[in-house]
Amino acid sequence: MNGKHWTNDEVVDHLYGVGPEDGHERECAQCMARIVELRARREAVAGSAKVTADFLRNQQLAIAGRIEARRMELQAWWRMPVWVAVMAALALVLSAPRPAREATVAGGLNRAADAEMYLEIYQSISSEEPRALAPMHGLFEEQ
Ligand SMILES: [Zn+2]
Repeated sequence: MNGKHWTNDEVVDHLYGVGPEDGHERECAQCMARIVELRARREAVAGSAKVTADFLRNQQLAIAGRIEARRMELQAWWRMPVWVAVMAALALVLSAPRPAREATVAGGLNRAADAEMYLEIYQSISSEEPRALAPMHGLFEEQ
């Protein structure tokens, strides 16, 4: 006998033609028996799986079904954050503290100043006269 017995990996490698080339299998009946047994098992497994057109069609349908299910799942997740964001914004708006109905003195002053500012903004926006003509009024002011 030449060297030690082959490992399982070496026997499998031998079956696929890439095993050790030390000629051990020719001298060792034990390793040759393992090779014969594994070869028979491989042929049994490979021979049992007959690929038919129906098998391929069913496999194709199963794969397409899984892809479609995954796509639908992704679409559902894609829409989910939008609804979560909308609901969060709504909850934030509804839960925001509301200003007290009775304004303090300072609040009243601020409100008056704000109202004046908004009025100026509104007048500047709502005027139909272009802003570029405003300096022209200075030419026609009454003295
Ligand atoms: Zn051996």
